[in-house]
Amino acid sequence: MPARSRDTILVINAGSSSIKFYLYDIGAQRELTPVLGGQLDGIGTQHPRLRVRDGDGQPVLERQIAPRHASDVNDAQEVVGTWLSGHLNGSPIAIGHRVVHGGTAFSAPVLVDDQVLEQLRALNSLAPLHQANNLAPIQVIRERRPELPQVACFDTAFHRSHSALADRYALPEQLYQEGVRRYGFHGLSYEYVAQRLRRALPDIAPGRVIAAHLGSGVSACAMVNGKSVDSTMGFTALEGLPMGTRPGRLDPGIVLWLMERGMSHDEIQHFLYHECGLKGLSGIGNDMRELQASDDPAAVMALDYFAWRVAEGMIGLGCAMNGIDAIVFTAGIGENSPDIRARIASYWEWLGIRIDPERNRHNGPRISADDSKIGVYVVRTNEELVIAQHTLDLVRPA
Ligand code: ADP
Repeated sequence: MPARSRDTILVINAGSSSIKFYLYDIGAQRELTPVLGGQLDGIGTQHPRLRVRDGDGQPVLERQIAPRHASDVNDAQEVVGTWLSGHLNGSPIAIGHRVVHGGTAFSAPVLVDDQVLEQLRALNSLAPLHQANNLAPIQVIRERRPELPQVACFDTAFHRSHSALADRYALPEQLYQEGVRRYGFHGLSYEYVAQRLRRALPDIAPGRVIAAHLGSGVSACAMVNGKSVDSTMGFTALEGLPMGTRPGRLDPGIVLWLMERGMSHDEIQHFLYHECGLKGLSGIGNDMRELQASDDPAAVMALDYFAWRVAEGMIGLGCAMNGIDAIVFTAGIGENSPDIRARIASYWEWLGIRIDPERNRHNGPRISADDSKIGVYVVRTNEELVIAQHTLDLVRPA
């Protein structure tokens, strides 16, 4: 690896099945340039793999990891940490982390100390798929390198611009006061999309935009002038649109029914976070590409359900803005699947929305036809860059 003279920021995104890491050079004008990106995926499976690429996307390393060394995120972070300490040219000036839930206390990125860590741990049950995994590397790095600044960046923070009404459920006030609110998630992704629109599509950025993050998790966000006014996700990342392994909208009566059948809290939690969505509907898996390649009727039905309910949920956000000026797709499915985008948009023809097949096939940026009443776009998200920017701003204010 070449010697580096500049300061760097490390970004860590630790999830239940993968740990992703990115290193950014800090330029003279505070511009952040990726110099390294990697991920250890397949945590908890028989085939964990560590892959690293340089700043140009060229492979640096691809290695199978023994399953016993990546049985959970705690093991896996040792593998990643050992590789990083052997290959980084000096210490980063700070580490930025993706943390899913900031609760009511955190509406902006924060420097982590013991008290902050404690407050964030108290939110674990609100994001059982993510929060504990997000916090695991923060804890270990604090123990080993207490002098190294660490910044937590929240998926909920971007949505704190919601009105009190948008944050409500139709529940008694007491529960709202206790924090039972519609927090919204994927905020780091939407923040990047808003930033990107300002730079690349300045005519659209000030308007009323519905952005849809269609990845493993799936949600949509209503933004006015780059500020979130509503989200399909709520108290936890279960609500809203169908996802890879989560159902999205669900009659709470179903949860009661499962309880009556004798399922415990932990069983229901596992079921809702890991066994539903595309995986549950298809009985095959949660990977969109796998389902698209299958002619199994259950896979076909899973895609039909996905397209319909995503289309419905996205367009419903228009009520929060009294109209829609533009629609943006992002994340793994949103950026890469012309077929799913076209299927979703087919539910909007009554609104005069038309997709141009050729533009769609090329993944945009504009995929709508010239005569479409509303412009439809694809924007590649970059949550890591947003985390790196926030981290730099906190540890070295401009
Ligand atoms: P995460 O980062 O949360 O794991 P991603 O944003 O990477 O999620 O999205 C993962 C999803 O994107 C998977 O369902 C995957 O199948 C889907 N995906 C990635 N590339 C494509 C593609 N070319 N066509 C269809 N789906 C794709």
